Amino acid sequence: MRYKWSVFTVFYPIGGENFLIKNFLTGAVAILDTMKPLNIWLDDQVLPLPKSFDILSGSNGFIVPESKDEFDEYNKSFLFKRFSQANLFTLHLLPTMKCQLDCHYCFERGIRRQGIMTDSVLNRFVCWLERYMEINPEVSSLKCVLFGGEPLLAKQLVDNALSKLKILADKKRKEYWTEVTTNGLLLDSNMARMLKQYNL
Ligand code: SF4
Repeated sequence: MRYKWSVFTVFYPIGGENFLIKNFLTGAVAILDTMKPLNIWLDDQVLPLPKSFDILSGSNGFIVPESKDEFDEYNKSFLFKRFSQANLFTLHLLPTMKCQLDCHYCFERGIRRQGIMTDSVLNRFVCWLERYMEINPEVSSLKCVLFGGEPLLAKQLVDNALSKLKILADKKRKEYWTEVTTNGLLLDSNMARMLKQYNL
């Protein structure tokens, strides 16, 4: 069987010949002290298996069989999750697009990074969500994922939004929890306590 790098594997040079690699499908992370022997082996695939092969293949998924159609498999798993979780409503809330960092891999580079969501937008959204829940009674769980920019830069808005969503979920007798994607710079004990109130 021939092998290839997974399309979901990305490579970050971290100095010298070292690379940090991550597979965004499996979540696996590894550090390689060099890429050359692996790339030579992948070109050739006649030489003996490289010693890192067992770690890179299998459930870690950095390297996959060449015949594998990864997009098709991802599509099927996405559709399966979507239809098997029809009673879960996941909301991505972007309180602000501001961020203190400028990571070279940020896919939001170059966009306008200003402003914080206004109370008026938030209130209209909560009204819309309440209506949505009324006409979709099969929704039994509500999850709010905070995203940005760096969402914790808008602490007041986040607190206000999560409070409104939790009140709405309780009123409608829905399960509720919160997730956050953050760079962690503002994640102190006060922030953690605030987020914990909303089932983070
Ligand atoms: S912390 Fe996140 S949002 Fe901010 S620049 Fe880095 S990747 Fe982008």
